[in-house]
Amino acid sequence: MAKHILPQLPYKFDALEPYIDGKTMELHVTKHHQAYIDKLNAVIEKYPELEEFTAENLISDLSKVPDEIRGAVRNNGGGHVNHTFFWQVMTPNNPEESEEEEEIKTELSHQFNSFEGFKEKFEEIAATRFGSGWAWLVLNNNGKLEIFSTPNQDSPLMDKKIPILGIDVWEHAYYLKYQNRRVEYIKAWWNVVNWKKVLENYHSAKSVSNNL
Ligand code: MN
Repeated sequence: MAKHILPQLPYKFDALEPYIDGKTMELHVTKHHQAYIDKLNAVIEKYPELEEFTAENLISDLSKVPDEIRGAVRNNGGGHVNHTFFWQVMTPNNPEESEEEEEIKTELSHQFNSFEGFKEKFEEIAATRFGSGWAWLVLNNNGKLEIFSTPNQDSPLMDKKIPILGIDVWEHAYYLKYQNRRVEYIKAWWNVVNWKKVLENYHSAKSVSNNL
């Protein structure tokens, strides 16, 4: 049976330093992300009818998951999908003012008054997510960009919204380096955002939403 597996991290654990430290990344990938994958595989093992679905498929339509494992698939499938996405929207190779960065910044400026306005709103939503969860920039059902947060490992896909950018604000994402200073972590994180990938996500979300 095909199992869900840990994707290859596109950079080294310590590549995002000094903004995100190598030890945090190593634990985050090899312990936390791996644990979601292991638990997802364990809970769906007895349901061969779920074998054909990707993790994204499963969490995008939880109604097809049997009642008795729906909560576990939501948490662990969500954890797998969210982390796979998160690694992709970060990069150590962030050229200053790339063409892609300009394009997505212009788009965000249009929808949130200014790029700074977008960042402020995103930071506020990320900082005020109570407990563990994620902050997201998504393309919503009306084809508009929207910022909101989700608790635990819930994904925007569960609400038919397409993630463009997201930040993990679980304490395990920042506690070793930033302790309780979540806002400091969020502000540092902008330095490693992969705007090229964010722009790609935006374009592909647009084409999906145009075809709905
Ligand atoms: Mn995490």
